[in-house]
Amino acid sequence: MYDVYKIRKQFPMLDGTKSMNGKPLIFLDNASTTFKPQSVIDTLTKYYSQTTSNSHRGDYDLCYQMDVEVENSRQVIADFINGEKKEIIFTSGTSMSINLIAYGYGIKFLTADDEILITEAEHASNVLPWFRVHELTGCKISYIPLDKKGRLTPENLRKVISKKTKMVCVAHVTNVLGFIAPIKELAKIAHEYGAVIAVDGAQSVPHIKTDVKDLDIDFLSFSGHKMCGPTGVGVLWGKYDLLDKMDPFLAGGGMNAKFDMCGDIEYLIPPSKFEAGTMNLSGILGLKTAVEFINEIGIDNIHEHEINLRKHFIEKAKDIEDLIIYNEEGGTGIVTFNIRDVFAQDEATLLNSKGIAVRSGQHCAKILTNFLKTSATCRMSTYLYTTYEDIDQFLNALREGGNILDAYFN
Ligand code: PMP
Repeated sequence: MYDVYKIRKQFPMLDGTKSMNGKPLIFLDNASTTFKPQSVIDTLTKYYSQTTSNSHRGDYDLCYQMDVEVENSRQVIADFINGEKKEIIFTSGTSMSINLIAYGYGIKFLTADDEILITEAEHASNVLPWFRVHELTGCKISYIPLDKKGRLTPENLRKVISKKTKMVCVAHVTNVLGFIAPIKELAKIAHEYGAVIAVDGAQSVPHIKTDVKDLDIDFLSFSGHKMCGPTGVGVLWGKYDLLDKMDPFLAGGGMNAKFDMCGDIEYLIPPSKFEAGTMNLSGILGLKTAVEFINEIGIDNIHEHEINLRKHFIEKAKDIEDLIIYNEEGGTGIVTFNIRDVFAQDEATLLNSKGIAVRSGQHCAKILTNFLKTSATCRMSTYLYTTYEDIDQFLNALREGGNILDAYFN
């Protein structure tokens, strides 16, 4: 039995004392970031109050212990996605991970004859790095068409992929429509054409089982803060032979074996080659604790919980006449909506006045607005601690409507 109340007890942000506009806080913006359990907070406190040191740089006990802890964290995170420890690179988050692929792989290996395939549903962090590769190499950026509902399908990939395609860069779960892409089939097609597939896992790794070997993908990027971990830490996983031939993105201490006055440099091998400078050590340790926390609940149980919440919402929302849902069939806890004739930000402000946090706008997916045929939407998104009561309160708030001007001037 999924005991959401027991889970909630572990989150200080959910201790019942937090409010917005004098109303108990209902947090439905988990696709943006998530709350942290006490165990993650304790890990950060312990680093700063008891075990502070750098890693991979000292010959004394504190530093050695930190090395061991960082490498243990790498192992726990590798196991979580069924990768190898040496394939886990610590970054500041998904955005940095994707930039690392773009600069380290894209710019090194692509030319003006090549093409990168993305979709209209991608987050800015999975579009703009590829635009940079285009600017710097002249390669072409093309779009895999979405189907009528906004999904990415193997058939549509087949329609556009060619021998020119060198990279397919897509989200496993998109952050506005929340559909789960058939990544395994997409990877197979990409490989048939000799392309690599780089998967944006920011919205998938925290919510659904991700097995990089089974999916047979080439790169996976994700962020700690969207999965109960600290901000400022994330992961790039890549197949080792690809990482090995990539250029480093950042140069500095900790990533070189030696260099001389003439500028001859010998880089360390991955993952160190990509980890220049002092890393976010408290963040790395906190991310390990977050993964252990998720493992204890079970990622499949989390997914099932979120799907049940979504079904509950969709079923109960049927009687709200003016509610437009853009992703009724989405496969995760993301529901994107508008209230007819109400501007999205006004609706989010109204919900805020009732203590409910949702996101409004374009959600960093600025080219998806062409597909949705609206300039802005509201998005509610659940996580492992969301309750049916949260959803019911949210439904009530949608039903009640209210005076938008009052919300602004409250
Ligand atoms: N990709 C997707 C699909 C996202 O939802 C996000 C965060 N909203 C990102 C990339 C960027 O993640 P971060 O801000 O943690 O780098």
